[in-house]
Amino acid sequence: MLTSLKPLLEPAIKHSFAYGAFNVNSVAQVEAAIRMHEIFKSPVLLQGAELANAFMAGRTDFMNGTLEEKAKGMKIIADAVRKYGEDSPIPVVLHLDHGHSFESCKAAIDAGYTSVMIDGSSKPIEENMELTREVVKYAHAKGVSVEGELGVLAGVEDNVFAESSTYTHPLDAVRFVKNTGVDALAISYGTSHGAVKGKNVKLRKEIAIAINECLSHERLFCGLVSHGSSNVPAEVVAEINELGGQIGESHGIPIPQLKEVIQIGGIRKINVDTDIRLATTRNIRNLFVKHPEVLNDDLVAAIYEIMKKNPAAFDPRAYLIPIMDTVMYGTIPTPAVQKLVDAIKDAIMEVTGKMIVEFGSYHMAHLVKTRSLEELAQEYQA
Ligand SMILES: [Zn+2]
Repeated sequence: MLTSLKPLLEPAIKHSFAYGAFNVNSVAQVEAAIRMHEIFKSPVLLQGAELANAFMAGRTDFMNGTLEEKAKGMKIIADAVRKYGEDSPIPVVLHLDHGHSFESCKAAIDAGYTSVMIDGSSKPIEENMELTREVVKYAHAKGVSVEGELGVLAGVEDNVFAESSTYTHPLDAVRFVKNTGVDALAISYGTSHGAVKGKNVKLRKEIAIAINECLSHERLFCGLVSHGSSNVPAEVVAEINELGGQIGESHGIPIPQLKEVIQIGGIRKINVDTDIRLATTRNIRNLFVKHPEVLNDDLVAAIYEIMKKNPAAFDPRAYLIPIMDTVMYGTIPTPAVQKLVDAIKDAIMEVTGKMIVEFGSYHMAHLVKTRSLEELAQEYQA
């Protein structure tokens, strides 16, 4: 059943566990991720970023997508989530990752997203709060949960680049949550976007702990969110490079540090995107090497050519362009494309399965008191 983030946060806060929030860029990933969570009896939290939505509308130069195109992609992805999630025995959430304007959050909600993030973190705090409040008002009236962001992460995510991070001030975080009524808050405490998070990252766990303590003293309900938290496993990067890729120096966030902030720092949602991209690239390169007969297929051969020209690329959106109908609608035109889609599915199942177990959402679906958006809207009103 589809629900918002709020019912998922309740048991996670009570029992100190977290959910991986997984970015999806194709129908096949939606299907496979939901299936994996069903097998593990974990609630599922899928997310689409603004650029992913432009891509899902068929805009291959997704950096230049218009709001109309993003809205079309939002609808396509929401339809896929409904198709595989509506009758699922586990709670299913579709969340907008890094919404950058009220209009884009509204478009996502209207398309069927059940949760949105409004990222006003590049603005001064007063403006950020004003924008966030506006989104909360619209979203909560429809039972949709809202994640805000305070503080700036280093690194590149979609088209947003921050040279260096500015950690979240715990007292500002309390003021922000009180003032806006957000359900979740993304904080800056040492994680960063992308595949190069710096060698030997040490999270400033004290920041998460301080924010979490302050929020509970004020009796504010809010799950903390860790962005830019991919693990970037060295073994997967090595495998890609052995299979003809050329991924340079890359570092992720060590899982033991994330487990610590789940235990004591109130982190309840952990965004994972890069790991899925890496595993997908590894699986597809492996398919080319182990089953070269797939290259007799024109569509797969076209993908192979793109990857050959860009050995450093690991964002599947860069090389899946020849099969956009498959990406957007899940159509399988040839047996070779089916093999490629299986590789994509295996990748997201590997990463989601791992994180479900590591972050502690394994077998937690029964703890969620799932409510429909209509019921949640009434709750927010009360
Ligand atoms: Zn992010």
